[in-house]
Amino acid sequence: MAQLDVQQKLSILADAAKYDASCASSGTSKRGSAGSKAIGSTEGMGICHAYAPDGRCISLLKILLTNSCIFDCHYCINRRSSNVRRARFTAREVADLTMAFYKRNYIEGLFLSSGIIRSSDYTMEQIVEAARLLREEQDFRGYIHLKTIPDADPDLVRQAGLYADRVSINVELPTAGGLKRLAPEKSGTRIEGAMRDMRHAIDDGDDARRRYRSAPRFAPAGQSTQMIVGADAATDGDIVRRASALYGRFNLRRVYYSAFSPIPQPSVVLPLRRPPLLREHRLYQSDWLMRFYAYSPDEVAAAADARTGMLPLDIDPKLAWALKFRDRFPVDVNRAPREMLLRVPGLGVKAVDAILAIRRWRRLRLADIARLTVSVKKCRPFLIAEDWRPVALADRADLRPLVAPRAEQLELFAA
Ligand code: SF4
Repeated sequence: MAQLDVQQKLSILADAAKYDASCASSGTSKRGSAGSKAIGSTEGMGICHAYAPDGRCISLLKILLTNSCIFDCHYCINRRSSNVRRARFTAREVADLTMAFYKRNYIEGLFLSSGIIRSSDYTMEQIVEAARLLREEQDFRGYIHLKTIPDADPDLVRQAGLYADRVSINVELPTAGGLKRLAPEKSGTRIEGAMRDMRHAIDDGDDARRRYRSAPRFAPAGQSTQMIVGADAATDGDIVRRASALYGRFNLRRVYYSAFSPIPQPSVVLPLRRPPLLREHRLYQSDWLMRFYAYSPDEVAAAADARTGMLPLDIDPKLAWALKFRDRFPVDVNRAPREMLLRVPGLGVKAVDAILAIRRWRRLRLADIARLTVSVKKCRPFLIAEDWRPVALADRADLRPLVAPRAEQLELFAA
């Protein structure tokens, strides 16, 4: 490997990390440095957020320790057989760069992942060392997200949890068949075993903190994972069911969906075209329905096209479900329970809570609903109010175009 300076390494290793979507810094505990000599805070003040041209959040210093790898996953630009320029940071370089960027207020923390060099244990040691230097030598209290390596020694993975706010292990592909075909050196069983160990370690850490205030924090922002969408033949139905199983089994904070991006010099087993980015967005909306609107994975999957198993791209999955199961509507906003109000397209959690609060005092009219939602036109066929009953509207065969958002022509020269 040619001798590179830190700036050259940064340009290679930050670029190599852009394919990882799981960079949100949500959900950790508040930790500040006011009144001490420490530096950094996990709270929002003064944090600089930036977005990559494709819309991904890059407010963390998001880098790889190295883009060299002994594995050969077909979908990965850093795979062994890829002809990319390689670079490698030392653990100290990562720690120093993070501090330098933090002090300039460019970032709110560090997102560190890595290709696998020499062995899983060796790579994990280097990742842990970078986090240790930041926490113990530099007294850094900002956000740290570490990717952990499923095959690494569980003791090393545990150490990562002691320094990091969030840890993540990527399941990579939604189906076991996809993983076998596109990442043959990875094992679904080992990945899930590592996620299970991590869940137990996080639960033990929470338990210890409840008993003893002085117990060390262990990954207070929990664990997350990422699935690549569109590199294998998995349908949206497969993906939402898999995500739901992962949330349940490993108590994940988030499952991130990353639309597969064609890479330079791709392997022949990969699709030639990327899936529409809107597919990723529809999967995030489905995820939201399962986590905050009490939809079961089978209900979300039922909103998909029965032939292809794919969610429609032109309307959101909640509207798609409502159009498919019209017999559950209209819902009376003055009488229906919370869980049915949450099913009405156009009514979010805030609007539903407001409806429940208002109806304790008086009955709601359609104008009241219009004040609580962005589009009353979208809700009207699905609800009954004091002065409104959809009558013929709810049964119209052409309801979909009436409630679907109008397709907009993008302006070529819009700012
Ligand atoms: S192990 Fe990770 S870095 Fe290495 S080829 Fe596979 S996905 Fe890429």
